[in-house]
Amino acid sequence: MRCPTCGERDTRVVDSRDLDDSATIRRRRECNVCQSRFTTYERIESARLTVVKRNGDREEFDGQKLAAGLDKALTRRPVPAGAADQAADEIEATLRGQGINEVPSSRVGEMAMDRLRALDQIAYVRFVSVYQSFEDIEQLKREVDSLFAQRSDRAPGQTELALGLAAPNARRTAPVLSSNSGKRPPRR
Ligand SMILES: [Zn+2]
Repeated sequence: MRCPTCGERDTRVVDSRDLDDSATIRRRRECNVCQSRFTTYERIESARLTVVKRNGDREEFDGQKLAAGLDKALTRRPVPAGAADQAADEIEATLRGQGINEVPSSRVGEMAMDRLRALDQIAYVRFVSVYQSFEDIEQLKREVDSLFAQRSDRAPGQTELALGLAAPNARRTAPVLSSNSGKRPPRR
């Protein structure tokens, strides 16, 4: 750390304290040559998690944006308060727990769909219809039909959660999480 006044490297810390957020330390330093004082801040660098979109763009993982997308799909659906935030938190925890630095947006979308399918089927269809950019009503009908097919496969007494986790016919194509990527998915 060079003295900003004279450029000398020989400086010493004269005071050090935690700031309010406790994640930052503020240090006062004094130059041993010209005695001028200056301040430095030290903070923890949180591990970065980058989302790689289909067009190659990268952006920092944004848990709030993910929660907002989930919440929109869950609007007025009979799910517990905070369900969207919880789902987003779980997705983030899963990704960070994998120790990866980058994740394709399609993977985040799949994880969001998995959770919505388990939470509420209407919300799931809403989400899929937005993020997979259904190109026509037939495609939407096929998605709904596959949900009904899974429902009729279900044994009596099986839970909605189990239905969501099974989902053998769920599409695994990449959704676009960002609404501003400007690219439409390829025609299937
Ligand atoms: Zn100096």
